[in-house]
Amino acid sequence: MRRQIIAGNWKMHMLTDEGRELAEALVGLGAEVPNVDVALCPPYTALTAVGAVLAGSKVRLGAQDVFWKEKGAYTGQVAPSMLVDIGVSVVIVGHSESRGRFGVPEPDMDDVVLAHFGDSDRTVNLKLKAARRAGLTVICCVGETLAEREAGDTDRVVTRQVEGALAGLDASTLDEVVLAYEPVWAIGTGKTCQTVEADRVCGVIRQAVGVLFGSDCAEAMRIQYGGSVKPANAAELLACPNIDGALVGGASLVAADFAAIVKAGPTAA
Ligand code: PEP
Repeated sequence: MRRQIIAGNWKMHMLTDEGRELAEALVGLGAEVPNVDVALCPPYTALTAVGAVLAGSKVRLGAQDVFWKEKGAYTGQVAPSMLVDIGVSVVIVGHSESRGRFGVPEPDMDDVVLAHFGDSDRTVNLKLKAARRAGLTVICCVGETLAEREAGDTDRVVTRQVEGALAGLDASTLDEVVLAYEPVWAIGTGKTCQTVEADRVCGVIRQAVGVLFGSDCAEAMRIQYGGSVKPANAAELLACPNIDGALVGGASLVAADFAAIVKAGPTAA
């Protein structure tokens, strides 16, 4: 059985003190639920403070993005080695928000905001490869927009994103890659993908991995579901055969909710 992994994506929330406090409330999960991998992904500015709380525990420190170059004139970017340097061991790449694909654009989210987030399949691939070279565990997100779903393109879109993200990767580095199926229309919207459909699309993703790397790799690949995961729906989602964990946004900001999600999986007891 694949080991489940639950990651909290704090997005652009939590000042240093708030992040420290949330991490203090969650750090015990490592010992309490030893059969589940748990990661907290605060914004860059809170990584060091949260890392200090998690040090020595089994709860892993994650970042929300990374650049693919090691150093140079890339103002504002953060290299994989810089994350490793401060104790980060997990990184999210290809989140739909980083790709400029938002489930619910805020009222003031104009073209200037959207154009700022320009990840493509190609840059996600570069980030994933650079992060793996640095030894980071990568959570790579894929998922369709509402328009793509309504056009019947879900399977084609996620398969293309998986092929793009994993292009040129050596199968031997895949053990530390986690894919996250995150239907864009379900992120931050309160709309969860129906459990059966979430499991089916995770199966499509697994199949795409199998075509690229063979059935053993596909069987071993951990695939999370993300999109309005809450304590109320976590157990049903995590019990699905193709779902090996959750990437949690909003609910990861509330200690009790995130802890309940971590404990909801079939292997948590
Ligand atoms: C996410 O940010 O990856 C996410 C799934 O957010 P939420 O749980 O808020 O939908």
